Amino acid sequence: MRCIWLQEQESSLRDVDAPRPAEGEALVRVRLAGICATDLELCRGYYPYQGILGHEFVGEIVEAAQAPERVGQRVVGEINAGCGRCSRCAAGLARHCAERSVLGIVGGDGAFAELLTLPLQNLLGVPDEVADEAAVFTEPLAAALEIQQQLPIDPAGRALVVGAGRLGQLVAATLALTGLEVCAVVRRQRQRALLEGYGVTPLGEQDVETASFGLVVEASGAAAGLALARRALWPRGTLVLKSTYAGETAIDLSGFVVDEITIVGSRCGPFAPALRLLAAERIDPRPLIDDRLPLDAGLDGLRRAAEPGALKVLLDPRASTDAGQRAR
Ligand SMILES: [Zn+2]
Ligand SMILES: [Zn+2]
Repeated sequence: MRCIWLQEQESSLRDVDAPRPAEGEALVRVRLAGICATDLELCRGYYPYQGILGHEFVGEIVEAAQAPERVGQRVVGEINAGCGRCSRCAAGLARHCAERSVLGIVGGDGAFAELLTLPLQNLLGVPDEVADEAAVFTEPLAAALEIQQQLPIDPAGRALVVGAGRLGQLVAATLALTGLEVCAVVRRQRQRALLEGYGVTPLGEQDVETASFGLVVEASGAAAGLALARRALWPRGTLVLKSTYAGETAIDLSGFVVDEITIVGSRCGPFAPALRLLAAERIDPRPLIDDRLPLDAGLDGLRRAAEPGALKVLLDPRASTDAGQRAR
C-alpha cells in the first residue's frame, strides 16, 4: 500500500506491505487524514520517529476478527494505545501509559496510508450526519476539549488564546461554547474572520493588556507566544501549554511564583464529546480546510501545511489510489 514514510527526518512516498491487525485490533481503510503541527515537528526531528506519519483520520473498518459486526463502520480513532496491564492503564490513564504506542508518533504506524491498524476499543463510530471532512478533525477537537476536562472553567471569566492556527482556532472555539469571553491573538485576516465565526474576539498582539486574563492558552508553539501568554495573565491565573517546543525554552519563573500562576500541560483529549459537538453542528471545523490532496501528493501537502498561516491540509488516500491506477 501507498504511504508517507518518515526516516531520519526525511519524508517520502513509499509502497509498503499492508499492516496485519493483531488480536483485538481492526484494520481500517483511511478515508481522509489531516496534517497537524506534530507531523511537521516529527519531520524536523523534534522527536525520533521512524515509520508512517499521521494521526488525524477518519476511516472505515474493513477487517475485525473479534468484532465482525463492525466491518463497514465509519470510525475515528483515539491515537494512544496503552499496554492494558500497568497501573496507569488500570487507573484509566492509558494515554499516559509508559508502554503506549501513539499512532504515527511513537511506535505505531500512522494514518498517511491506505490502511492502518488500531485496537477496536480505540475506534469510535462516526454518526451518519458528520461528514468525513468534519470527522477528520475529531482528534484535534478532542485535544482542545482536554482543557475543559483538566480545568474548572469560570464562564464569568476571560480567556486568551495565543496562536490562531489549526489548534488555536479549535481551542478558542470550544472555550467560547462555555460562555466565557474568549479573545485570541491573531496576525492574519483569514484567521481573524474564522475566529469571529466561532464567537471569539480577535486581538492584535499590541492590544493584549498586561495581567488581564484569568486563563491563557499558549497554542503558538513559539517562545514569543509563551512570553506574551505570561504577560497577559492575571494574578493566580492559569496558563495552559498546548504546544510542544523545539529544544529548551528560556523563561523567568520567578514571576510565576510571585503571581501564583498555575501551569497546566495539556495534550490529547476525549473523543466522544468531540464527536457529539460535530454531530450537533455546535462546531464546524470545515472552514479551517486549506487544501485537500491525494495521498500521492502528500509531500506537497506537508510543504503546504508548513507555510506560514496555513491551516488544515487533508490527504485523501482513495483519490491517490484512483490516480495511481489511472497512471498504471
Ligand atoms: Zn495532531
Ligand atoms: Zn499501560
